[in-house]
Amino acid sequence: MSEKKTSLFEESLKPLKNAAAILKLSSDVVEVLSSHERILTVTIPVKMDNGKIKVFTGYRAQHNTARGPAKGGIRYHPSVCLDEVKSLSYWMSIKNAVVGIPYGGGKGGITCNPKELSIGELERLTRGYAARIARFIGVDKDVPAPDVNTTAQIMGWIADEYYKIMGEYLPGVITSKSLSIGGSKGRDTATGRGAYFATLEAVKALNISLKGARVSIQGFGNAAQPMAQYLHELGSKIVAVSDSTAGVYNANGINPIALIEHKNKTKSVKGFPGTKAITTEDPITLDCDILIPAALETQITLKNADKVKAKLVVEEANGPTTPEADKILHDRGVFVIPDVLANAGGVTVSYFEWVQNRMGYYWSNEEVDEKLKRVMNEAFHDVYQTYLQCKVDMRTAAYVTAVRKIVDAMSALGRI
Ligand code: NAD
Repeated sequence: MSEKKTSLFEESLKPLKNAAAILKLSSDVVEVLSSHERILTVTIPVKMDNGKIKVFTGYRAQHNTARGPAKGGIRYHPSVCLDEVKSLSYWMSIKNAVVGIPYGGGKGGITCNPKELSIGELERLTRGYAARIARFIGVDKDVPAPDVNTTAQIMGWIADEYYKIMGEYLPGVITSKSLSIGGSKGRDTATGRGAYFATLEAVKALNISLKGARVSIQGFGNAAQPMAQYLHELGSKIVAVSDSTAGVYNANGINPIALIEHKNKTKSVKGFPGTKAITTEDPITLDCDILIPAALETQITLKNADKVKAKLVVEEANGPTTPEADKILHDRGVFVIPDVLANAGGVTVSYFEWVQNRMGYYWSNEEVDEKLKRVMNEAFHDVYQTYLQCKVDMRTAAYVTAVRKIVDAMSALGRI
């Protein structure tokens, strides 16, 4: 059997359709949920260091704003395209509803390879993009944040450009800023921390011990690094890690703190002392107890789903598993904490940042952590109860809980 070539967005609608069948939604409501409210495409001419002008393409999509302003990151990557941005913004509507924070879904990006840009080019590109989308975003309209290859510095440039255009200091327009300009404590580790809290609840439900559990990780960036550290602290063994350049394996466990230092120094996990070289995809199928895809979309597919050895998959990446692969995992009894739940810690602390910006009053690390834990635990158990009651996989259960909330909001607004 081969996987049909359809768009990522079309594929991503399958769990929504499964949830809609359980919720007995009419086809016109499904059509509304399958449509974006607004999508903006922009071109950004940038003066490069060699004096030439290069034109980049960027996007910002707002999927559904019935539950609140659009919210979601900005990605800089060569693969960024309309189809990807549409998928990512729709996943944000679902994710924000799963964890019950008052936002709709948004996402943006620029098709570029930031690794080939100088710091000056990156700043000019970012400021150009910010100027193009300035009228489209806003504290109560659409609130961006970082995603793959975007950082607190990039958020700072966007904020600065936005303030200049609007003539006001409005820090709630963007999240994951540096602490000095209204960022929240705990935001840099929030995605990993949230995934960790969800994992703690999952292992209790599944009766797996984290102490000694073998963990395999694909992708070693903002999402994966804190998660690896929390699991390591609890006594799990990080046996495999890969990034976009290489992979490393040690059956006795890799120290994630030392690996982060190595990656910071060399820009790669490659050659980490005491490890064997593996490929970037090997972590998916290696013998382990917990698999953490934390890189990009479409990594667990028809080609490798039957080779996944883990009992538990924690999707820190967005969309790492195709619907066909999802079915294989479910049929084989692999428990998946789906992306819209597993990685929701990032947007949850972004929400806390936005709340603090609006109040002008800032919380301690402990307050942020305690609130994040509460949100993640409640979301996990909401989804897990639906999973038990409806006898569906965890992804469908997450979509059922999310879609119910979005439909209630659309109905209360009289939109459907
Ligand atoms: P990042 O840029 O910090 O890290 C991405 C990592 O994946 C890097 O180590 C990169 O080398 C690696 N990678 C890329 N392609 C790979 C490949 N083919 N094989 C193996 N590794 C590969 O990005 P991030 O913020 O950590 O995001 C990772 C995923 O998590 C994305 O899907 C993102 O949408 C999702 N996510 C991130 C956050 C967050 O707060 N950072 C929140 C929610 C979801």
